[in-house]
Amino acid sequence: MASDSAREFLLQITESVRRYVESLQEGGVTGLPRASARELEETEKRRDGETEKAEHGKSSSAPRFPDSPVPRFPSPAASRPRPPLQPIVTPAVAAQAGDLFLSPTVQTVQTLEELRAEIGDCRRCKLCQGRTKIVFGVGNPRAELVFVGEGPGRDEDLKGEPFVGRAGQLLTEIITKGMKLRREDVYIANVVKCRPPENRNPEPDEIAACEPFLVKQLDLIKPRIIVALGTFAAQTLLKTKTPISRLRGVWHTYQGIKLMPTLHPAYLLRNPNDKRLVWQDIQAVLREMGRL
Ligand code: URA
Repeated sequence: MASDSAREFLLQITESVRRYVESLQEGGVTGLPRASARELEETEKRRDGETEKAEHGKSSSAPRFPDSPVPRFPSPAASRPRPPLQPIVTPAVAAQAGDLFLSPTVQTVQTLEELRAEIGDCRRCKLCQGRTKIVFGVGNPRAELVFVGEGPGRDEDLKGEPFVGRAGQLLTEIITKGMKLRREDVYIANVVKCRPPENRNPEPDEIAACEPFLVKQLDLIKPRIIVALGTFAAQTLLKTKTPISRLRGVWHTYQGIKLMPTLHPAYLLRNPNDKRLVWQDIQAVLREMGRL
């Protein structure tokens, strides 16, 4: 017989799943893919393991629930060992992301190529309806420095590569002229991988569906420094509503990685006088990299 708190936990999950399915229906989704045979087999194995433990008195007779609904990613083979990253999400958001957080395939991918393959022709959120190409990310898979933007715009959607439009040209200048690095030396990714219609901000269910992929990208790359470009990337990664004007210019930490928020290049195109602020932030990054 489940305890009250276990029953309460199940009810919360059921409610979150119901809301997630409703949001998919509102977004025009009419069906969901079945779990693969391998996923089902692994779920069965896990369940058998739990039953066996309970039968041998190694666990209490109360039903076992995961310690946390947030998965722990296994460490990939990489030169800079670091504990695996975990998406910082509430249980409700994790449940909204459907089986993505539980998918053994996302958790166990070892390379960016495998992760891209896992994303496939993604239909996990409503952004798939208006996109041309998924914009996964580009650059050095072992980069010391990763730039994270908001989401693809029109040019990126057409080309399938982040930051290739006007804002992208400015970012490229910051990297090449300001930092004396090549674009291929760093890695560039976005919070969401598909273009939001009319370049609107991504919505919570869209972030919930896509964030595990960014987390996994960072987990595989293991950068030493992240530069969050603009309000949206900074607020999403740092789980805060603090305005970018207060976040920028100061070091923060994302899962043990140094994170510098700065102004978005698209904002700089409209407010060129603030380029000096970004230059200050970039100089702090260069100092941290030992390049200044
Ligand atoms: N703005 C972003 O945030 N990301 C891109 O890839 C392009 C523009």
